[in-house]
Amino acid sequence: MNDTTSTQSLPLLGKTAFVTGGSRSIGAAITKQLAADGAQVAFTYRGSPDAAKQTIADIESAGGRALAIVADAADPEAVRAAITKTVETFGGLDILVNNAGIASASPIDQITFEDYQSMLAVNVTGVFVATQEAVRHMKEGGRIVHIGSSATKYAGVPGLSVYGLTKGAITGFNRSLAYDLGSRGITVNTVHPGPVDTDMNPVDSEWAKLLIPGIAVGRYGKPNEIASVVAFLASPQASYVTGADILVDGGFTS
Ligand code: NDP
Repeated sequence: MNDTTSTQSLPLLGKTAFVTGGSRSIGAAITKQLAADGAQVAFTYRGSPDAAKQTIADIESAGGRALAIVADAADPEAVRAAITKTVETFGGLDILVNNAGIASASPIDQITFEDYQSMLAVNVTGVFVATQEAVRHMKEGGRIVHIGSSATKYAGVPGLSVYGLTKGAITGFNRSLAYDLGSRGITVNTVHPGPVDTDMNPVDSEWAKLLIPGIAVGRYGKPNEIASVVAFLASPQASYVTGADILVDGGFTS
């Protein structure tokens, strides 16, 4: 970033981003991509401090600035405090990415109420709390990107009914939110990944063998293939994209 020409071309230079669940997998790829595009990035994590340190090291060694904050997405006070710390550290907030999510697969007659409550707390309440707190700080040009799921919005998957309930809620939330925030120049969009090789959904599993034949491009996605779309939606170039559901699924639901 010392080179003047490359600095001028960075689309997120001077912006501050906050990513939930940025220590590993898709969230780490998003965090690194936003930093590579010039943003200073804060991210939350819950249980993987070594992965969080690695994400910070990767960003700093590339010349970026990042902050890792322990904050359970299911804990509203922790999420609000993390956003406050981000604003105090970096001087504002321009971009929110609601990435943290958990999935527990079970048929409806076997899923426990505790699993239901956990998914609701992280995947829905966590999104609401982070969004409400973030928009209190955002100005004209703010960007919000939620991570949904192509499987649960566009195609049923056995055992994922409750996960689908939580991810489907994001789409409903986002439609009206686009109107609430449009007059303030803030966009809100949902990226729906298809199967992506992460700790949550590893490509070397039996489950993956069943899914791959149904993916048009014939393979799982990589975290950076989600991150690049999120980074575009976070950029000034995406100023007329809002209230949208963006599929990034290799044709899984085509
Ligand atoms: P992983 O489980 O591989 O990684 C999850 C990340 O979120 C980790 O950084 C983890 O951090 C963090 N996290 C989990 N729970 C919490 C919590 N309660 N509070 C704070 N941070 C938390 O998931 P993926 O990267 O695969 O998934 C990311 C998002 O993409 C999720 O919303 C998921 O539903 C969605 N998605 C994933 C797909 C896939 O195929 N992988 C497909 C469609 C959607 P730590 O370990 O430090 O707690």
